[in-house]
Amino acid sequence: MHNEASRRNAPVFSAGFKDPFKILVFTFLSARTRDSTTIKAAEKLFSVADSPEKIAMLQLKKVEALLYGVGFYHVKSRNLLAISKAIAKSGKVPDDFPGLTALPGVGRKTANIVLSRAFGKNTLGVDVHVHRISNRIGLVKTKKPEETETALMKIVSGNSVSELNRNFVAFGQTICLPRNPKCSECPINRICRRVNVGTTCKNCRY
Ligand code: SF4
Repeated sequence: MHNEASRRNAPVFSAGFKDPFKILVFTFLSARTRDSTTIKAAEKLFSVADSPEKIAMLQLKKVEALLYGVGFYHVKSRNLLAISKAIAKSGKVPDDFPGLTALPGVGRKTANIVLSRAFGKNTLGVDVHVHRISNRIGLVKTKKPEETETALMKIVSGNSVSELNRNFVAFGQTICLPRNPKCSECPINRICRRVNVGTTCKNCRY
């Protein structure tokens, strides 16, 4: 799954931020926005201000101009300034769930992804890709992302937990697309249950 998505240049693999603050900003901005758009906006932002202290000094209008194109960029600009001010004041990005979700605009999914990617914790961020693909394959049978997180945490263990988000996102961006998934080219089409997929596939078992 990972290899196939990597071979197809999944956008999520292009976001190579290592610094916890940049990972937090990228993840926070990526909600309801394509990764390719988020990467461009984050790089533009960091070329002007690459630390919480520097971003906290920017005017709201300037942040909005830098984030133009990102979904809900007005609200995200306001929240980004508040997040940057809070982190500049405390001196570090929170490395626990309560600390991260106390930041404005940071929800469960974002906090779990940051804990996993920035701090190496075994947490699982469930976004639309993870939720959709887990249900299609038949790994879980859930209605909401929170339910998917709980169900997956019962069946996935070890390093697989922290790698699952990025691998499923990449897979969802390249093969198991939201509409018209490429089932006939999919490396797991012999085992996938294809729940509610609604298209035919001559290579699939189900
Ligand atoms: S077989 Fe189709 S529905 Fe199942 S994981 Fe592959 S692309 Fe998605």
